[in-house]
Parts: sequence; structure tokens; C-alpha cells
Amino acid sequence: MNILAFLSAIPLHRSCHVGFSPNIANRLITRNTTLSKTRVRFMPFTTISSISPPQAKKEDSQGELIKLIKAKGAQKAVRRIVTILEEAEARDGEYSDTNVRPDSFVYNSAIRSLIRAERPDLAHDVFRLRRSAQIKRPDDIQSDPTIAAAIIRSALRDAKKRSVRLSISDEVFKDLKEDCDALCNAPLSDKDALVRDVPRMALAFCTLISSFLDAVHKGNSVKVGDMERGMLALTYLQKISKEFEKTAAIEVREYNEAIRTLGKARLINSVFDILDIMSVCKVEKNNVTFEFIANSAVRQVQFVTGAVSMDTLPEPLGVEVAFVGRSNVGKSSLVNMVCNRKALAYVSGRPGKTQQFNYFLVNENDPKSKFFFVDLPGVGYAKVPRHIQEDWLHFMSQYLQYRVSLRLVFHLVDGRHGALKDDRELMSQMGAIRGAFDYVIVLTKMDKIAKQKVKQSVIDSTRAALRRNGCADDVPIVLTSAQSKLGRDDMWRHLQAALRPMSHTKEAMKEFKKGNT
Ligand code: GDP
Repeated sequence: MNILAFLSAIPLHRSCHVGFSPNIANRLITRNTTLSKTRVRFMPFTTISSISPPQAKKEDSQGELIKLIKAKGAQKAVRRIVTILEEAEARDGEYSDTNVRPDSFVYNSAIRSLIRAERPDLAHDVFRLRRSAQIKRPDDIQSDPTIAAAIIRSALRDAKKRSVRLSISDEVFKDLKEDCDALCNAPLSDKDALVRDVPRMALAFCTLISSFLDAVHKGNSVKVGDMERGMLALTYLQKISKEFEKTAAIEVREYNEAIRTLGKARLINSVFDILDIMSVCKVEKNNVTFEFIANSAVRQVQFVTGAVSMDTLPEPLGVEVAFVGRSNVGKSSLVNMVCNRKALAYVSGRPGKTQQFNYFLVNENDPKSKFFFVDLPGVGYAKVPRHIQEDWLHFMSQYLQYRVSLRLVFHLVDGRHGALKDDRELMSQMGAIRGAFDYVIVLTKMDKIAKQKVKQSVIDSTRAALRRNGCADDVPIVLTSAQSKLGRDDMWRHLQAALRPMSHTKEAMKEFKKGNT
């Protein structure tokens, strides 16, 4: 492509950034003395959008007019990019240093420039050109799903022309899906290509989930359509991650972004899908991940009732998660750590009575994600008369056996002391019942135990206590610390399993459609 022609098409102002590689720029500068760095600054991935007219002086009576003319100049220059690339592709003949054949880098730079100039339509034109060149000369031009995703994102953000926006995003999305299918069917022998393309493809779909759902959220587009596309992007992300496990090394922040947007769209199951993908791809979650997970899953907490017997329990909701442990075991601290709150309403609103099941309703206003979180005081922990203790034990046993909505019981045990008499009593109840719910032992305050040996002995003695009391060998033991935030990942893994209803993405779509028609 003739870069000089390209430059001459651009009305040069004092500062003009053009998206070309520094190599090409340097070659040009040495060959052509009329182009100096002060007139044209070449920077990789910089933007044509900064070809802005110099600020017109207020006192200048012709200021507005000059501004207009110059702005039009910039618009023309932006359009010229497409023409020049078209001409360069059409010219099948000789290419030289100054008449370079566009490669991936040139295309990507041009596309990114046009995106920054807020011209997704033109970026799409260049993308089409790039795609046909890619078919003709695959060695020169590789597919780049992230560029495709960037165009879709830009098109979706463009609030102006709805029809253009939709046709662009649909067309590019179709290309991406095709590429993804092709990649999934590619022979595994082509390892290099897979290692290069899979992460990019996964990243592209990750971006798209956020873009589509953000568009839904901002009311920028046809809601159900974009929702569907977002979900489809998620399915494709799952597909690609499953196919190639470790190769999909997307950075954690991309996942976080997807979690944030899915959470905002109240698609908690899809948030869990992303967590699964992260596990498959062995991506370490960070603080932000947990913040977004917690914000998605626990938006609102409210005390509803204190139950003292089976007939005072509230009507069951779909899911119930119980935390049991004697006072001071670190229950409030743990719940706050898991929910990423300093002090959940449940702490301040917690009624003084310890001898009742305290019911908290989470996400009251969202039928799809609401659940009960139940705070159970420890069995026989309070110094109360024997007959009250017996009533209590009876209630607990009935509850564990007959509460159908109970999905998960976290039994908190102070890591410093291991299972005490009362803990063993509860284990024995659990062992006798072996309910349909998940039973998880949570050792708290593990930061207080420095020595690995001591830690191991607490784990061993807890395991032995479980066994002696008839519990299954696979009851998980999770080590936690509200102080160091140890165990967040494990806690969420169990919560995720409990909170994830049978329905998945398709189900969520149906619900969403119902609510929007
Ligand atoms: P609850 O009565 O079971 O709700 O227990 P709290 O959460 O109120 O905790 C009781 C005490 O243990 C408080 O002084 C907490 O600061 C402390 N604590 C709770 N969790 C931890 C932990 O993981 N590490 C340490 N070092 N202290 C903790």
C-alpha cells in the first residue's frame, strides 16, 4: 500500500497520530524528508480520532466555520482509509517499501483507529476487506477474533444508527461463530495455531458477553436479541474452554468483566458458568472476582423470622443454605467474608435469641435468585435446661430430615480446637440422617495456626471424628480464615453447587423473554 498516498489524504494538523507500526514509520521518515516527526507522529495503535481540528479561538469570528471545515476534513480522512486499503488490495501487482501490501498489523491498526474515531461502520468495511484478503492470503493475514469482537462492541455502543449497528454486529458475530466452530474442529496436531488462536477466541467471546449484556442493560438495543447473543457467546466461550482446557489463558480481568455484566443482568447461573470456565482454564480468581461474584449472588439480605419448631418455619423457597456453629466460632465474620461485605445486615439485625433458627431472605425482589440463608445456633451450646436442649435436638433432627428445600449445611468448627463435644453430637446426627443436602465442615480461624503440622493434625482429627460418627468419607473439610480470606474459593464452589438451580442458560432466556414481552 502506498502510505504516502494515505498520508496525503489526511489533512495534517499540528498533531496527527496515525496507526501504523513504528517500523514502517521509520522507513518512511528516512526516505522522505518532507515528513518530519513534528508533522506526523507515528505510533503503534494510536488513533486517527485524534486528528482533531486545532481549537478555534473564541474571539475569532470565523471560529465556528473553521472548526466545521476542519472536522469535515477529519471525517474525509477517516473515510480515505477504507478507499486506500481497497485500492491496495485491488492492486495485485508490484509492491515495494512505500507501496506495501497491507498485512494483519495494518488492517488491525486501521480498524482500531476507525473504532476510536467512533466509526464502527467503516471499521466493519475494513474488516470485510481484511476477511476476504485473509481467505486469499492466509499466510499474510491471520484471523483475529479480538478485532472482530472490538468491532461488535463498538457497534453496540453506537447509540445512533440502530439498524446499522445490528447488521454489523450480526454479520461479524456470524463470522466469529464460524471461526470458533472451525477452531474447535481443527486437528489437534496443529498445536501452534491452537495455542495462538484459542485464547484470542475465548477472549473475544468473553468481551462479547459483556458487550451484548451491557447493551441490554443500557437499553441501547433490541433487548432479547442481544441477550440471546450474549448467552450464545457464553455457550461458545464454554465450548472453546472445554475443547482446549489450559490453552485458553484469558486474563482474570476479562472474566471479571463478564461476571460483572452477567451479575448486573441478574444471570446468576451464567456467572457460575463463568466460574466453571475459570476452573477449567485454571485461572486464579482475585479480590475483584470475589467482589463481583458476591455482588451478583447476594444483593440484598433481610431478616424474616426466627423459627423454634417445624411449624414455625417459613414457607420453603427453592433453596436454603444453613450455617451452623456455636457462638464465637467466627460465623458472622465468615459470612461477611464470603459475601464480601463489612457487615451484612444479618449481623446488625441479628436477634439476640440464640435458640431459634434465624431466617434471612436473600434477593427478595428477584424470584430467580432468591434463597434463604439460615443461621443455626449450635446444638446444645447454650447453657439451658436439659428439657429445652432435648426439644432443640429434636427440632434440629426433624429439620435436617424433612426440610426439603435444604441444599447445603456448613458446619463451622473452630480450627484451633477441632471438633468439640457439641460438634461431634451434630456430626452424629448428620451421620444418622445422611440427608439429600450437601454437608461441609468449615474449619475457621485457620490464620491462627501457623504450623503446617498442627493444621494437618486438626484436619486429621476432624476427619476421624466424622468417621467415628457415621459420616461419609467424602464430607469436604474447608479451611477458612476471615482474616486472610483463605477458603473463599472453596466456599463459593459449594455455594455455587447449592444455588445453581436445575435450569441453565436456556431456562434463563425463557424467563427473560417472558419478562420482556
Ligand atoms: P460468631 O459469634 O460465630 O458470629 O463469631 P464472630 O464472627 O463474631 O467472631 C468471633 C471472634 O472471632 C471475633 O473477635 C472475630 O474477630 C474473631 N474471628 C472471626 N473469624 C476469625 C478469623 O478467621 N481469624 C481470626 N484471627 N479471628 C477471627
